[in-house]
Amino acid sequence: MGSFDTIVIGAGMSGVTAARMLADAGHRVVVLEGRDRIGGRMHTDREAGFPVDRGASWIHGVDGSPLWDLVQALRIPTIEYTVGSFQVGGRPIENFDGDGKPLDADATGRWIADVDTVDRLLVEEIASSSPGDTYLDVTERALDRSGLTPERIDDIREFFRHRVEEQCGAWIGDLDAHGLDEDAIDGDEVIFPHGYDELPGRISAGLDIRLETTVTKVVRSKDGIVVHAGDATFTADQCVVTVPLGVLKAGTIAFEPPLPDPVAGPLSRLGMGVFNKIFLQFDERFWNEDSYVLRALGEAGEHWHSWYDVSAVSGLPTLLTFAAGPFGRRMQDLPDEEVVADVVRSLRALYGAAVGEPRAHWITHWGDDEFSNGSYSHLALGSTHHDHDDLAGPVDGVLHFAGEATWGDEPATVGAAYYSARRAAERILGRAVDLDDFAARIIEREQTEAR
Ligand SMILES: Cc1cc2nc3c(=O)[nH]c(=O)nc-3n(C[C@H](O)[C@H](O)[C@H](O)COP(=O)(O)OP(=O)(O)OC[C@H]3O[C@@H](n4cnc5c(N)ncnc54)[C@H](O)[C@@H]3O)c2cc1C
Repeated sequence: MGSFDTIVIGAGMSGVTAARMLADAGHRVVVLEGRDRIGGRMHTDREAGFPVDRGASWIHGVDGSPLWDLVQALRIPTIEYTVGSFQVGGRPIENFDGDGKPLDADATGRWIADVDTVDRLLVEEIASSSPGDTYLDVTERALDRSGLTPERIDDIREFFRHRVEEQCGAWIGDLDAHGLDEDAIDGDEVIFPHGYDELPGRISAGLDIRLETTVTKVVRSKDGIVVHAGDATFTADQCVVTVPLGVLKAGTIAFEPPLPDPVAGPLSRLGMGVFNKIFLQFDERFWNEDSYVLRALGEAGEHWHSWYDVSAVSGLPTLLTFAAGPFGRRMQDLPDEEVVADVVRSLRALYGAAVGEPRAHWITHWGDDEFSNGSYSHLALGSTHHDHDDLAGPVDGVLHFAGEATWGDEPATVGAAYYSARRAAERILGRAVDLDDFAARIIEREQTEAR
């Protein structure tokens, strides 16, 4: 019935990928995007003359990653940056103890071994956990069994809390015991010195994308789909909804008839976390040239604990730190100057007067962003891994969901957005989509354009 074959809602990684795959197959596709830009949670800010990735930065593990294959096929430059997943070792990390004193090589070795010991016990505790157990419960059991001294246990407890905040944007007591099961990193991690948004940008070239078109209602019937965006209506045979879980949970898009339980259930059970970034740029480097991360353990790092050296991107001394979970939400209500002063205070507790005043800063507020309403999804207590994939639908054969929250294998990532988009496109086309062909056609189109 529709004037389009498919309407895609959202022009983030999943939206532009699904739309591109369908358009490549000859479908008439329109993409409706609420923001005045594409990319969604891949957002490179270039106002300062160099790229600052306010959303995603990393590919977390390049081995066996089809996302990495795509990045390589498109010859997008990357920099190796392993330890982007809250590891304790693997690359040089400057650790400080609870009093803000640097750990020497022996103490660092012991710290890495301590975390490793408890992590191994944690795997066992997770395997034998019961429904209703939180990640905090299994962590405490593993710590109890560790035989470590109370002080060392305190540092690890703090570290695990921060790891959950960073990976899930959630409080450790709100995460299901299985909430980090999919957190395996295979191979190096990389970041994007020219900005991660090059990827959705190049995928989206040539698509019919309507920016500043905020969808308010999706009506489905056996004849197809009607999508309302304020006064405008769009009709199609099929629809792929890729708006973030936070937007779906907020209920700002009305679904008529209401979503059935197999989709509405996961939607209510899964959690949407908050993870914000704070970049501080300095005139002078006060940390070692080859350090990847500066990390304060125990009390010294209660709030601000990990700083990632991302100077390679701008060529200027730049640290990236995070505020996630409940702290990330609280931070959003503070004036930027206060946040910057607080981070600088924490750094001075470690490096003293060597820490100058930052020359520039960037602070994100993903939890307040009406088009994402949080940073990424996680397994809130009461949800299961199946909930992610069940969220994809389809509903009545016409309504599909894609996006990071709909991919159980590695939710909360760019890869999840990419793979879930392919699944939606394949379901609509009724056949497989080859990812090498997908990449080759992007390049072919660029070459034709350039001629
Ligand atoms: C701070 C931060 C850091 C991250 N770091 C990493 C990382 O290092 N590595 C990694 O792999 N992942 C990371 N992620 C996660 C990654 O960014 C996301 O998983 C991925 O980009 C999600 O893509 P998506 O297409 O599912 O959703 P999105 O990119 O959010 O796309 C959805 C689109 O829908 C639009 N939309 C919303 N509501 C409406 C509406 N009503 N009408 C029309 N359009 C609407 C939005 O504007 C958006 O453009 C990070 C995320 C954040 C926030």
